[in-house]
Amino acid sequence: MRWSASYIPTLKEAPRDAEVISHKLLARAGFIRQLTSGMYTFLPLGLRSLNKVAAIVREEMNRAGALEILMPMVQPAELWKESGRWDFYGRELLRIKDRKDSDFCLGPTHEEVVTDLVRGEVRSYRQLPLNLYQIQTKFRDEIRPRFGLMRCREFVMKDGYSFDRDETGAETSYKAMFNAYVAAFKRLGLDFKPVEADSGSIGGSFSHEFMVLADTGEDTIATCPACEYAANQEKAVSAPVEATQPSPCPPMEKVDTPAQHTVEEVAAFLKTTPQQVLKTLLFEVDGKAVAALVRGDHELNEIKLKNYFDATDIQLASPEQVKEWTKAEVGFAGPAGLKVDTIIADLSLQSGNDWVAGANATDTHVLHLDLNRDCEVDAYADLRNVAAGDPCPRCNTAMELKKGIEVGHVFKLGTKYSKALNATYLDENGKEQVMIMGCYGIGVSRIVASAIEQNNDENGIIFPPTIAPFEAVVISLGGKNKDVDAKAEELYNTMNKLGIDTIYDDRDERPGVKFKDADLVGFPIQIVLGGKGLEKGIVEAKDRRTGEKTELPLENFEQALSEWRAKVWEGWNLEL
Ligand code: ATP
Ligand code: MG
Repeated sequence: MRWSASYIPTLKEAPRDAEVISHKLLARAGFIRQLTSGMYTFLPLGLRSLNKVAAIVREEMNRAGALEILMPMVQPAELWKESGRWDFYGRELLRIKDRKDSDFCLGPTHEEVVTDLVRGEVRSYRQLPLNLYQIQTKFRDEIRPRFGLMRCREFVMKDGYSFDRDETGAETSYKAMFNAYVAAFKRLGLDFKPVEADSGSIGGSFSHEFMVLADTGEDTIATCPACEYAANQEKAVSAPVEATQPSPCPPMEKVDTPAQHTVEEVAAFLKTTPQQVLKTLLFEVDGKAVAALVRGDHELNEIKLKNYFDATDIQLASPEQVKEWTKAEVGFAGPAGLKVDTIIADLSLQSGNDWVAGANATDTHVLHLDLNRDCEVDAYADLRNVAAGDPCPRCNTAMELKKGIEVGHVFKLGTKYSKALNATYLDENGKEQVMIMGCYGIGVSRIVASAIEQNNDENGIIFPPTIAPFEAVVISLGGKNKDVDAKAEELYNTMNKLGIDTIYDDRDERPGVKFKDADLVGFPIQIVLGGKGLEKGIVEAKDRRTGEKTELPLENFEQALSEWRAKVWEGWNLEL
């Protein structure tokens, strides 16, 4: 491709709403343009990168035995009613009507459609296992679309679904997909980590998220620096700390705390620390009033609370409910004398005593609260987010918290959809059995952004060679010297013949402009030919990642370039 014949509208300024570096650079380097909130057009370079990611994902899926199909994006409501998700999925599901007034939705995911397909096709155990995937545009009406390609409403996903005869088969499929993901993300040059993720009430380690480590990530991961343990904060646990026998404390006593609502305010007002204050959070869990207690410096984890009750619906109590249950304004709830269905406390509250808590009276707290003496706690459970420094559940080492971007997710579904949609087969004995499913997603468009979050500098993008829209750019500094242009064009043709996807910057622009654009777009390899170089018989090769420049001989160019290119790939830990 010649630069002059392509469309690469680079910009000096990033759009004003661009908060993260990948969004800024994708816009500035001419990869994407916004249509409206959470929806982007991929310009020629953007589409090239997207296609390169998709191609690698496709290759690894095929290698693992998955079969590519393409399902409709618009899905009939009936299927979603059959699975129960029509009412459950919420407002991320964009619902539409056709001309006959029938309900449809834009597919945010395809469990229903693929299960419907398979139940119509598979009769016998001989047809299983089956693993089907597609690479397709998804629509989710995200509440907060942001960060450019990271959280869109319309985005490209690889979604795959496995169907097995039994648990053993399902685990084999899961592992095959897990390994295929590792292979794909490695080839994409990402610094990633598979982490254990929440799998709702299924339990076990049958859900892993693949996280690209980056400060702009929306997920928090707890990792152990000493062993392999890594888990999404939604699910991470810490080693149980031995409950110590709390020392007795003085009798409970009420104190005035006018207008002191938050833990910090109360702690400061009463001259104590947040560690001594109890947070009492009120929820409605499947219609029941629940108070959840955590230490003031800890964060309640709603997913753990939900899983504890195996609940389908959990909501923070409304201000009206809080007032009704506590007989006080919001902010003064406490466990002593509280009339709710269940009081549940975090494990860490088994150690320690002499708490400060709300008194269930406006502008009032209590001092010297003893959970055993002064109230009825129904159960202690792990209810909080792991904090930095908590002991690793496997080896007790202090854990670290890191930010990550979720680029992939593997999940053992079990029979959730196959049961609901009646996807069964006949086993060896002619007995009807429900298929065991797994689902596997990769955020294809999100990966382009993630790679940039991990690799950039003040000059622009630094693309891994496997994601770059072109692996190399040939820059001619010919100016008026037509011999230079002719030679540069020859190099460009040679490189493409060698299988190096190369663009030729043939524009009539100043060298500075060409260098700046090449750095901004982030081509991993820059080949620069000028008049002096041509005279001396050399061309300059720049590695965008390291910034290192090397002179390659024009004579024997092919071999010299191939050897040098191999080093560039090696620097990325990538195999050519
Ligand atoms: P998240 O927690 O980020 O919302 P999710 O759990 O909803 O992700 P899945 O349903 O597992 O995501 O989708 C599979 C993959 O699709 C994710 O791992 C992610 O890479 C990608 N993805 C999900 N939502 C978006 C989005 N709004 N924009 C871009 N990519 C997305
Ligand atoms: Mg989501």
